[in-house]
Amino acid sequence: MAILRFHALKTSINNNITPVVKQGKRSEVFGTNVFNRRTMLQYLTRDAFKSVISAIEEGKKINRTVADQVASSMKDWALSKGVTHYTHWFQPLTGATAEKHDAFFEILENGDAIEKFGGSQLVQQEPDASSFPSGGIRNTFEARGYTAWDPTSPAFIYETTLCIPTIFVAYTGEALDYKTPLLRALNALDAAATDVCKYFDKNVKKVTTSMGWEQEYFLVDKNLAACRPDILLTGRTLLGHSPAKGQQLDDHYFGSIPTRALNFMRDLEHQCMLLGIPAKTRHNEVAPNQFEIAPIHEEANLAVDHNSLLMDVMSRVALKHNFEVLLHEKPFANINGSGKHNNWSMSTNTGTNVLKPGKTPMSNLQFLTFFVNTIKAVYENEELLRASIASASNDHRLGANEAPPAIISIFIGEQLTKVLQDLEGVTKGKLSPKEKTDLKLNVVGKIPDVLLDNTDRNRTSPFAFTGNKFEFRAVGSMANCGKPLTILNTIVAKQLKAFKEEVDALVDGKSFKKDEAIFNVLREYIKSSKDILFEGNGYGQSWELEAKKRGLSNNKTTPEALKVNLHKSTIKLFEQMGVMSKVEVEARYDVEMEAYINYIQIESRVIGDIARNHIVPTAVKYQNILIDNVKGLKVIFDKDYKSLAKEQLNLIKAISAHIDGINSNVTKMIGARDVAHQIEDVTARAEAYSNNVKPFFEEIRTHCDGLELLVDDELWPLTKYRELLFIR
Ligand code: ADP
Ligand code: MG
Repeated sequence: MAILRFHALKTSINNNITPVVKQGKRSEVFGTNVFNRRTMLQYLTRDAFKSVISAIEEGKKINRTVADQVASSMKDWALSKGVTHYTHWFQPLTGATAEKHDAFFEILENGDAIEKFGGSQLVQQEPDASSFPSGGIRNTFEARGYTAWDPTSPAFIYETTLCIPTIFVAYTGEALDYKTPLLRALNALDAAATDVCKYFDKNVKKVTTSMGWEQEYFLVDKNLAACRPDILLTGRTLLGHSPAKGQQLDDHYFGSIPTRALNFMRDLEHQCMLLGIPAKTRHNEVAPNQFEIAPIHEEANLAVDHNSLLMDVMSRVALKHNFEVLLHEKPFANINGSGKHNNWSMSTNTGTNVLKPGKTPMSNLQFLTFFVNTIKAVYENEELLRASIASASNDHRLGANEAPPAIISIFIGEQLTKVLQDLEGVTKGKLSPKEKTDLKLNVVGKIPDVLLDNTDRNRTSPFAFTGNKFEFRAVGSMANCGKPLTILNTIVAKQLKAFKEEVDALVDGKSFKKDEAIFNVLREYIKSSKDILFEGNGYGQSWELEAKKRGLSNNKTTPEALKVNLHKSTIKLFEQMGVMSKVEVEARYDVEMEAYINYIQIESRVIGDIARNHIVPTAVKYQNILIDNVKGLKVIFDKDYKSLAKEQLNLIKAISAHIDGINSNVTKMIGARDVAHQIEDVTARAEAYSNNVKPFFEEIRTHCDGLELLVDDELWPLTKYRELLFIR
């Protein structure tokens, strides 16, 4: 292995820059490989086009004849671009994307070969679903799964295959993917938010959720990564001593992008353009080799599809540039991990972003309504929101001395804090004419000015208001954003529904004026949900203590965090909002717990193997060299050898101590794993892996990293942090 490491180092130095193809203007390339409106206009009849658009905009059903037409046009378009296969493209609960390619190619009875693609193949397929996680849904109902076309996300050509975004459900209707509940939650929010918007503008017919993600990632040289079984099998390093220079100098963030990385980015962005992913921003992140890509925000369902697609595209493009892209939340110890900020807002069909203060007091009251309702929704469901971003890999960031903490809080900035304080003072009941004018002019009216100044960003906050949107920052870099967005939309939808009922009751029952009723309800909301607002440093211990006093949850591990999903109130929430049934919620809980167990189990095996099969033998080899050296000194210097061999003898002892530390801990870890493995109940099993298996990782690592500092560099088999982390 040591030979492999040196070979890899040599190749990585020679791994010069892969040239980038000529790209042209981005606006001209954008969406070339997408069956978008422009292409549809060209290929579909007027009626078919209208039918697809009303399916996208109003959720209307597409009939069979139209589906046949659309399929045939999609096929013609795809064939004109050299495409041979099609696939339903979906997002099962593995978190990755799934596809099964079929050729358009068919043989007729007379033996002639043709290309065929009909409405039935477009609309529905039955992939062999038995190997996707279902949390027991299929077993219970003995049902198969099928995929069904989601016309709201356009088909696209990827690697010579026509990909059709679909949902994935059991025959009994239960969702087996991330997209189905997201679509239901987006609809729930649309209904609730549209009703509330009507207070402010009667013309509002639809509210759409918008989302802009910011994807962080690491790049490492492919050959260097190949010398790390931990990176290859778990996506992160399980051991490795910190380099002398890490991110202490803050010299990477926004620094000049290394040429090799820049070429990768240009290639990646070109692929994004072809696929209609509106990539806009690129920069170096805080840690060495860490970068970010962010698009222009889009309708949330499309944004989620695009992010899922992007993660796949990134891995492929990286390989072309001799890189391995690491999407893991914490690939390296002691330097920053990666997240995926989900920027979230809602806008009306009349073109208003409801989280953006407008020019009139009325539009600002609308802003305040959505702003305060979101705060209240997050306050009342903070634990559920935390659960929506829980995973074995994200546990390394949340609550592990890394931004942001496992406690959900909201940052709104000093200015808006002041606005809420003013609103809290609004008279209970009917407002005097003076108060009304005052509110309009001095509180609500002043918001836009206030926001111009809202640059004070608190980077430690997991959920922050940033001018015209909320930014959910605790989402993991590997996550499918569909999950957190489903929760966010569900809780806000529920909240808006409750708000509407309360305001209507005041208007109808107490004959309050509409504004008056809104102010009254908002005042109570601000009072009751204040505890979620936090402007201070989220990393500190003092915040943990303070949060505890406020009754906020602080679930540091996935098994702890996921439990809230099974609470009666959670199931009721999902059922009431039409987002998930009890069966679906419970199935997802099982799938996520199992995934956690599998991750920890794999990591535990990998660290055990590396420690015993790579590190210990290497340490023994080096120790033997030292022993030979001591023996030689003894032969030459006889009795005097001890003083001459003092350091060597110390080293020999230190190596033995580390070897002992590794072996005894690996043995204990395997024992704990065997016990955990036998536990039937999924919750108890996940807890056993979390509490009894995982803690050994740190113990084993400490000894391995200790040896890395002692053993001759030439013998060391694994590429070191300092080699992995600084691409040029
Ligand atoms: P940051 O300082 O956090 O990097 P940016 O201004 O670069 O902030 O924006 C980050 C993301 O927010 C981008 O993906 C952008 O498209 C998205 N964004 C901007 N406005 C909205 C909005 N109204 N709804 C959702 N996302 C938005
Ligand atoms: Mg951001």
